[in-house]
Parts: sequence; structure tokens; C-alpha cells
Amino acid sequence: MLQVYPIPAFKDNYIWLLNRAGSSLAWVIDPGDAAPVITELAARGLTLEGILVTHHHWDHTGGIEALLDYASNTQGGHKIRVIGPRNPAIANVSERVCEGDSLRLGSISEGDTATVIKVLEVPGHTLDHIAFLIGDALFCGDTLFSAGCGRLFEGTAAQLHDSLAKFAALPGDTRVFCTHEYTEANLKFALATEPQNTALADYADWVKQQRSEGLPSLPSSLARELAINPFLRTGTDSIRAAVAHHSGIKPKDDVHTLALLRQWKDIF
Ligand SMILES: [Zn+2]
Repeated sequence: MLQVYPIPAFKDNYIWLLNRAGSSLAWVIDPGDAAPVITELAARGLTLEGILVTHHHWDHTGGIEALLDYASNTQGGHKIRVIGPRNPAIANVSERVCEGDSLRLGSISEGDTATVIKVLEVPGHTLDHIAFLIGDALFCGDTLFSAGCGRLFEGTAAQLHDSLAKFAALPGDTRVFCTHEYTEANLKFALATEPQNTALADYADWVKQQRSEGLPSLPSSLARELAINPFLRTGTDSIRAAVAHHSGIKPKDDVHTLALLRQWKDIF
């Protein structure tokens, strides 16, 4: 069984730590900072086996080099794998992967032919952005957030739309592990777009409770996001109407709706 633990980093990042129950090995995803990862590994008595990287931003990659040093200094020189996008700007990646690649991740895949890791290319937030699907767990980096999505720093609305459509096609019980605890702020915007969405209002109450207890709002699930996340609901009449009302422009299609929605959120 795959166990996933959040390692809080910076102000609101989560570095996800993966460990197969019973194994002493671990993987981390998007280690922007090495220190909290090293602390967590030590606390759990785990050895770092590898790193997954979704995109080039520093708060997802800044800890890689220090973790490689840590591994070579404390783990008997054992070389750890670093799997990331085909972007040469990201240093220290040992395996560059793209859509369609199926990976096996050492202890994570061990003795279980079902745990093949799929790579999805999801440009939009950045052009190099990839996501990892490990069984029913989606690690989507900064492409999808609970009740929101990443800003369009490099890609187009059309690219982001296609990327989000790849996620939307996954089973509803897919667990969604995002890299930032942005949920409460995103929900304020989501409620502004769909004040009549009762699933959204109920979820906002639950998130408020979780956060007041210092607990993560993540992971979410795909079914939930499809019910409450405006960026996955650009095909609905209510989101299209909200966007038209706010912008004064009648969107011509879902990509146009997404573009206007993203512009609205950028200044919300
Ligand atoms: Zn980013």
C-alpha cells in the first residue's frame, strides 16, 4: 500500500513523501527545500530512494542538489534517481520523461505489477509541466489546485484546457495531491463564481474546519474537484454565465471561458 505524507515547506508548499508500507525507502515530489525533507526522513527512519519533479520553478526544485549531497554523504554514496521533465534547465535530473512513459519506481513499484507510474504532459502553468499518476494518486504540481488552477506563466489557455481535460478524464476516486495549500483562498473565488453551488459551500465549510485545526485540505479527489472547481467546470452553464456577467464578453467556447476565468482570478 502506498502511503503519502505531506511535508510543509516555505509558506504554503507541500512536498509529498511516498513510502510503500513496510519499506524503509521513500520518494519525494517537488522538493523546493531540502531541510524539511531531511528532517522528515530522519523522523520516520526512511532512506531517500528518489525524487520526482513536475516543473522547473524554484519552489519545486530548489532542494534537489542538497538532497543529492545528503544522500551521498549519509546513505553510503547510494545514487538516488531524479525523474523530471525534458527541460535541460532543471539541473540534476537523471531521467527525463514525457507523456506515455511508464515508470517503475523501485520500492514504490516493488512486487506489485499494478503500480506502474504514468507520466502526463500538462503544459499551461509552465511549458515543461508534467504530472505523475501513481495508482489512484495524481501528483499534479501547480497545474491543478483544489478549487483552482495554476497561473498561466508560460502556456496558453488552450494548453491548460487540454491539460485539465486529461485530469478530468481520470476516475472520480483519483486522489489529487497539489503542491500548494491554496484551497481557502481559491474557495473565495470559486464561491464568487458559483454562489448557488451547494457542494461548493459544503466543501468550503469543511476546509475552514480542517484549516482551523491546522490540518491540510489535501488531498482532494477528482470527483470533488469536478463538482466545485470552476476551472474544471468551464463547460457548465453556470460558470459560462458567471464569466459572461463579470467580463461583459460572451465566451465563444470552453477555452475562451477558461481564459476569461483565469484573467478574473488573476485580479480577484
Ligand atoms: Zn510553479
